[in-house]
Amino acid sequence: MDVSYIINELAEDRAAYFNAVAPPIIQTSNFAFNKVEDLSRAFEDEMSGYLYSRGINPTVDILRRKLAALDGAEDALVFNSGAAAIFAAVLANVKAGDHIVSVKNPYTWAWKMFDQVLPRFGVTTTYVDGTDANNFFTATRPETRLYYLESPNSWTYELQDLPVIADYAKAHQIVTIVDNSYCTPLYQQPIAMGIDISLQSATKFISGHSDVVAGVISGSAAMMKKIFDSEYLNIGSGIQPFNAWLLLRGLRTLPARLERVTQSTCLVVAALKKEAKVERLIFPLDPDFPQYALAKKMMKGAGGLLTIVYKANTREEIVQFCERLKHILMAVSWGGYESLVIPKCAGIPAKDFDPGQESHRMIRLYIGLEDPEYLLADLRQAMEA
Ligand SMILES: *Cc1c(COP(=O)(O)O)cnc(C)c1O
Repeated sequence: MDVSYIINELAEDRAAYFNAVAPPIIQTSNFAFNKVEDLSRAFEDEMSGYLYSRGINPTVDILRRKLAALDGAEDALVFNSGAAAIFAAVLANVKAGDHIVSVKNPYTWAWKMFDQVLPRFGVTTTYVDGTDANNFFTATRPETRLYYLESPNSWTYELQDLPVIADYAKAHQIVTIVDNSYCTPLYQQPIAMGIDISLQSATKFISGHSDVVAGVISGSAAMMKKIFDSEYLNIGSGIQPFNAWLLLRGLRTLPARLERVTQSTCLVVAALKKEAKVERLIFPLDPDFPQYALAKKMMKGAGGLLTIVYKANTREEIVQFCERLKHILMAVSWGGYESLVIPKCAGIPAKDFDPGQESHRMIRLYIGLEDPEYLLADLRQAMEA
């Protein structure tokens, strides 16, 4: 399906709402019925129609159908956060006694779920270096039910060979989930590679305006129904209509924003590699990236996030660089219009800072929609001061 068609037309029944170009926000909790028989049908299968907005809502439905189509999936579910999407997708596919193999250092709240929540219910997780697919296979036990992947991750951009892992998992009845937030479906299509569930934090590129927290999962209609009937309705973490509407608005410009971010990132990567204070630069589509060949094979593009290893002997030098930036904001998250910086050392107690460890000197940048020369000037004055 054409991306332009999905974004501009798919699921938009404009005649049903006064031919308005922008879809309505159907801000209602419940829906009324004329016939008891119709109400009975809705009770039986809440996914089949409008009953109550913790389940299906018309504004959310437009978004859901577009996001599913962008992923090349049969269906999708949209959540009130990326973390909620991860939680529902994982929880729906494990029970007491089951085992998960996860890529090491997954997104913080995936890791906290594996380490702190799931063990209380008898589900255990083994972490593996995902750069070698064999590590997943050798860590697999008879009770392994799930592989959790994140490719690339959002700090050091390690990849997993998705088609190879998906093939093995299918042969062993293991469900695969990949966090595709970095690429979005425009740059990577996990479902076409055989992955069961693709997920994104829609807070990032889908929203694009740093004003919504949301998440999405996509996959087969059967898998989405299974998750809808249990975790989606039970946890009640579905997205609200107004936030869904903001994401629909974000989607309209997703390809244009991604294109701009990608071009600017290329310019910034090339310029920063020449800077004396940059010891190493990590970006998946940089030819020096260790998994460059795999990145080229799986990804159509990359942009936004990149990480530099800053040449510094003290934590103070990194602090000064970050605090001297005049236009680039220091904040978590990414994917919005505004450029961001975040130093790894902010999460390390000052007394433990060790300049001998490369990871302690990592600084992540997100390149937004500003003029790249404006951003480079800001970065240079902060490095030179
Ligand atoms: C932000 C993020 C998440 C979590 O999404 P929220 O919308 O913040 O809950 C998950 N994975 C990655 C890679 C992220 O960057």
